[in-house]
Amino acid sequence: MTLPELPPYAHTPKPYTGPSFEATMALRKQYLNPALFLYYKQPIMIVEGSMQYVYDQFGRRYLDAFGGIVTVSVGHAHPEVTEAASKQMETISHTTTIYLNNVIAEYAEKLAATMPGNLKVCYFVNSGSEANDLALLMARLYTGNYDALALRNAYHGGVATTMALTSHSTWKFNTAHSFGVHHVKNADPYRGQWGYDDPDAGSKYAEELTEFIEYGTSGNIAGFFAESIQGVGGVVVFPDGYLKEAYKRVRAAGGVCIADEVQAGFGRTGEAFWGFETQGVIPDIVTMAKSIGNGAPLAAVVTTPEIAATLQQKIHFNTFGGNPVSCIIGKTVLEIIERDQLQARCAVLGKRLLAGLRKLMEKYEVIGDVRGKGLMVAIELVTNRETKLPATARTAAVFEKAKDLGALIGKGGLHGSILRITPPMCVNEADIDFLLEVLDRSLQLTADVS
Ligand code: PMP
Repeated sequence: MTLPELPPYAHTPKPYTGPSFEATMALRKQYLNPALFLYYKQPIMIVEGSMQYVYDQFGRRYLDAFGGIVTVSVGHAHPEVTEAASKQMETISHTTTIYLNNVIAEYAEKLAATMPGNLKVCYFVNSGSEANDLALLMARLYTGNYDALALRNAYHGGVATTMALTSHSTWKFNTAHSFGVHHVKNADPYRGQWGYDDPDAGSKYAEELTEFIEYGTSGNIAGFFAESIQGVGGVVVFPDGYLKEAYKRVRAAGGVCIADEVQAGFGRTGEAFWGFETQGVIPDIVTMAKSIGNGAPLAAVVTTPEIAATLQQKIHFNTFGGNPVSCIIGKTVLEIIERDQLQARCAVLGKRLLAGLRKLMEKYEVIGDVRGKGLMVAIELVTNRETKLPATARTAAVFEKAKDLGALIGKGGLHGSILRITPPMCVNEADIDFLLEVLDRSLQLTADVS
């Protein structure tokens, strides 16, 4: 049987001279928290990256179809990002916001320009969790209300407040963190009560919000968080019109609407620059991370001047937030996305990918659903299309096999039965075809796993 072949690529990785896999593993086991988990039964060691590819210690190349968890947006070690960052490092890498610096100001202007409406004020932080934590604080300060709503199956982060917003038992520790945070029914057209075939699904799911607000809160809420497309939960795309209806109900209860764009933003959906635009809404607060920095620790909360102003009540400060290196990286990433028209590329490549996956769905009964937008795509594996029982073992087997065949993909969903495909946005048609071939083979070679 011939194996799928990676598209040709002119890059020779540097010879790796660092500690061996075994020595690195021993160091990690001894000195890093054991809660850090590794993908794959036989984990891989990645020592170099170039655009959509990564290399192991032996120089073997893999297609990175997960983008370091939806984070590498314009490409690993993108030469322009590297150049901008190193020039900034040579100039000044740290000032904090207590001194005036041009880089953060110019970047904020550029980022705000991508936003619709009155979303014009940025606060830079270092991670998605910090961004959502700050958004929750702003929502509470601005509205004077406390209760916050999020969706079941959401992931919003791992610090105390965002662990509260996250809605998977697998990510929630048994500590006190969720006071005043509630999870409403997810608008999931594959597993939920109202499916793809129901044209009113969006408004029916939104109705749940009103019901919850009326029965589960004082009637006044601080805000409503929703990922524009749920990522960790397995690329759940809400029914059309859901957020529009949901936002109306949230605002009627005095709350603000927060879009978590940590995964869906920066053109990845192909249809729009921001995921919320695919639902025809304008949020009050937008949080972003991951793709914003192509791997650099950068995240942001963008909101209206009125909401932003509420933070002035006390001192608020973030040492590394908005540091000149992260900001120059963020600015360069935006310039590359614009210049290389990566959003349009995501649309084209996403169509090709989804069409290929739908063909695989015709061939393999185990694929229960194919979904996503642009280069944020997933397939959900089920043991039976009627019962939709998660095919967890088969998913794990396909995931492992794909790695053996040269493609790194992600897993998601509460039961780990969803394969996620979110490559850097610089992939090309040949990469997509390679990935489809890898998945085809991986499904074929794991047919005996149930
Ligand atoms: N929101 C979403 C939608 C995410 O996917 C993540 C990370 N997976 C976060 C927030 C938290 O981001 P971080 O890990 O940078 O804290």
